Amino acid sequence: MSKPRLLLHDCCAPCGGFLFHELSKDYEVSIYYDNSNIHPVEEYKKRRDEAKKYFTSQGADFFEFQYDHKEWLEAIKGLENEPEKGKRCAMCFCIRLEKTASFAASHKFDYFATTLSISPHKDAKLINAEGERLAEIKDIKFLAGDWKKRNGFLKAMKFSAAQNFYRQNYCGCEFSAR
Ligand code: SF4
Repeated sequence: MSKPRLLLHDCCAPCGGFLFHELSKDYEVSIYYDNSNIHPVEEYKKRRDEAKKYFTSQGADFFEFQYDHKEWLEAIKGLENEPEKGKRCAMCFCIRLEKTASFAASHKFDYFATTLSISPHKDAKLINAEGERLAEIKDIKFLAGDWKKRNGFLKAMKFSAAQNFYRQNYCGCEFSAR
């Protein structure tokens, strides 16, 4: 029997590599790279290239959404000074999840998911609630998870070190790099 098709939104190779392997046991996983939050563009390219190199070497499809940081800045306008884990981050999750859900629905995936909750700095409850909301609107299933649990984050970082992935030291936007 063939595995269900899952579109996994990935933010970077260190967060996505381990999760990809875990989820690939039960799903046929494709990667969706949509991260216009990342600043500057050189950093975006570094993260994208590292992720693309790894996932394609594993035989996964890698879909990249067009990078547009100006549009992202417009969308979070007024929330620039919010702390990490605040309203700006909630909006940032919504933007990326919405596009992932739309792409997954229009390309007939069975599920969509995101790597975002693997980070200890990300609120899984918020991410999962938004995923479920979008799943209902787009008529597609969302694979909810708090991937950091059961040592998920630690395992991901060990996996990342073993693969010698490029690993950044800030979340992505200029406000998180401050
Ligand atoms: S800190 Fe990270 S999650 Fe929050 S808005 Fe910036 S890039 Fe997005």
